[in-house]
Amino acid sequence: MNHHSADEVARRLASIRRRIDAVERPWTHQVEITAVTKAFDPSVIDAAVEAGCTVIGENYAQDLLSKRPTIERLGPHRRPRIDFIGHLQSNKVRQLAGLVDRWCTIDRSSLAKEIAKRAPGAEVLIQVNATGEENKGGCRPDDVVELRERCTDLGLTVAGLLTIGPTGLPAEDAAPGFCIVRSIVDDLGLAVCSMGMSADLDVAVACGSTNVRIGSSLFGARPVPVHQEGDGRG
Ligand SMILES: *Cc1c(COP(=O)(O)O)cnc(C)c1O
Repeated sequence: MNHHSADEVARRLASIRRRIDAVERPWTHQVEITAVTKAFDPSVIDAAVEAGCTVIGENYAQDLLSKRPTIERLGPHRRPRIDFIGHLQSNKVRQLAGLVDRWCTIDRSSLAKEIAKRAPGAEVLIQVNATGEENKGGCRPDDVVELRERCTDLGLTVAGLLTIGPTGLPAEDAAPGFCIVRSIVDDLGLAVCSMGMSADLDVAVACGSTNVRIGSSLFGARPVPVHQEGDGRG
């Protein structure tokens, strides 16, 4: 059976749900799973949707645009929410407007301004760099309040925050950054705290994630993307 059959994806999705349920946490909120299909063939989206995935995460503008026909073919009732989770150049926003439902990597006001112009009132997440790594996107934790105000002034809906754990360290080492981001979410009374990927989802859920973004644990190892514009951690 091929890796990307709906049956296989459904089995893996169930196993991720079990992993989430096994985490001890003081929260009762549901943890949403975003199926990260970046760099895979568009057909993976069909398999994911058939397996029950309702949110698709994509990182690269060209890659996502090439999947537009597949997404549109699903029709309004089966169409998943499309989250843009990669580093985003302002000049790509225009083409993506109308396709992206949630812009998850707002880290500067120039980008917020462009999204407000091309997709008025859009739902966004502010990306926070909680680890201080230089090659990673996201605003500083101290800048979240101001950027959120800016987004709100522009008419955008700030649903919450997104962060990515430290690169190349054991999963446990993501906890301090995740806790910082969770505390900002609480201070600001936001709903969404998107943190955790295949390797560190358990730590993220223990720290209060409401949304994990899962690629390889659902679909296996990724092919090297043709349209790479940064690895999504940048
Ligand atoms: C690629 C990516 C993911 C998924 O990573 P996996 O390790 O394959 O689960 C999640 N979030 C972001 C921002 C990504 O770039």
